[in-house]
Amino acid sequence: MIYNNVQKEIAHKIEKEPQVSNWKDWKWQIKHSIKSLEKFEYLTDIKFDKEERKNLEKTFEKFPLSITPYYLSVIDKKNYKNDPVFKQAFGGIEELTTLESEHADPLSEDKDSPVEGITHRYPDRVLFHVSNICSMYCRHCTRKRKVGDIDFVPSKDQLSAGIEYIKNTPQVRDVLLSGGDPLMLPDDKLDWLLSEISQIPHVELIRIGTRMPVVLPYRITDNLISILKKYHPLWINTHFNHPNEITASAKESLAKLADGGFPLGNQSVLLADVNDCPRIMKSLLHKLVQNRVRPYYLYQCDLSEGLSHFRTPIGKGIEIMESLIGHTSGFARPTYVIDAPGGGGKIPVMPNYIISWSTNKVVLRNYEGVITTYKEPDSYEPKMCDRDCGNCDLDLNLSEIDESESIGIEKLLSDSCDTISLVPEDNERLQRRDENE
Ligand SMILES: *Cc1c(COP(=O)(O)O)cnc(C)c1O
Ligand code: SF4
Repeated sequence: MIYNNVQKEIAHKIEKEPQVSNWKDWKWQIKHSIKSLEKFEYLTDIKFDKEERKNLEKTFEKFPLSITPYYLSVIDKKNYKNDPVFKQAFGGIEELTTLESEHADPLSEDKDSPVEGITHRYPDRVLFHVSNICSMYCRHCTRKRKVGDIDFVPSKDQLSAGIEYIKNTPQVRDVLLSGGDPLMLPDDKLDWLLSEISQIPHVELIRIGTRMPVVLPYRITDNLISILKKYHPLWINTHFNHPNEITASAKESLAKLADGGFPLGNQSVLLADVNDCPRIMKSLLHKLVQNRVRPYYLYQCDLSEGLSHFRTPIGKGIEIMESLIGHTSGFARPTYVIDAPGGGGKIPVMPNYIISWSTNKVVLRNYEGVITTYKEPDSYEPKMCDRDCGNCDLDLNLSEIDESESIGIEKLLSDSCDTISLVPEDNERLQRRDENE
């Protein structure tokens, strides 16, 4: 793996006689993570004045600082104030501003938590928080309230509650390991955890969400790959936000993962002054697909405390999607989502492509602005569905057909249910009706 001059300089400052092998040792990187202002100044030669230091100390008291020497080496020291890596890693006094619309737990992950560590929001999949720590504390982290709070990797006992919950909840077919960063767990504990989960008969696949390829690519060791490989199908999602993060070391870690057969995805967060530009975003996405990573989500920045300086209008995200759809490979574009405050889950948003409709024609526009029509079929025999697949003409003979009741908007569309509207629980008009009855 690459060990460049900037990295050499940092390593020499950390240790008088550094070994190249130390730099690439992920545990060495964590041990020497930059957690104080003094160390940051010493390693980068960046100096802050008295006022700045006071503000920064105050910020780090609330939201701790932690940067791996590797990620530090990606910062352009000469132009650090505009550097996208610096902005994600270092932070400032802006983080102490809390708006009324911001919350410590904007997604209500704690409220949707049946047992410690599990967020069960969607019917068939759960989020399992298996570690509270990360190798680098992102300043834009949604889970700032948790990450770095107390550095801890849960014990087997603590993880067991989550495993038991999954065992006892047969509708869970997809388990998403998250955190913190799941790859902060030592190899043997990860091996144990994956083996426990993969033995549960109804779990069809496991996913890991990790920022290691971005902030500590040396974590992707041969030993780690050989452990993970035992648990296919295992999907891995990482979190690159800017093309500068795709370094030689990052590429090497991605190649190892792709060669290990893990389908790779990427989740970016749209961040003001970091990647809120169609050109930067396109460059990132192109680099990702070159490294066999499929862009998955682009997140609107959450309403977490202290993130207001990172937030963009939603229009910025739509503008970015407009510049991608049609303009570049379909598989190079993520789905832009807003994670609904209060726990509603991810809501996809994009520009509108349907301009108008009649009973037999749809008017659409394409990415070039060409307006076109699609002629619908003159006749179409609707298939009424009562969700009784045994008696259906389609006779698909699917063995594991899902005949469960539909929910939400799907339910409004279904033939098997006579619900005609979804009404808020406290609707005044209907309350009046009840009173009048
Ligand atoms: C994002 C998320 C998931 C996974 O959602 P996908 O759209 O399937 O990637 C599951 N649970 C929670 C709580 C989530 O936030
Ligand atoms: S890697 Fe993820 S969980 Fe960890 S600090 Fe960054 S955004 Fe938060």
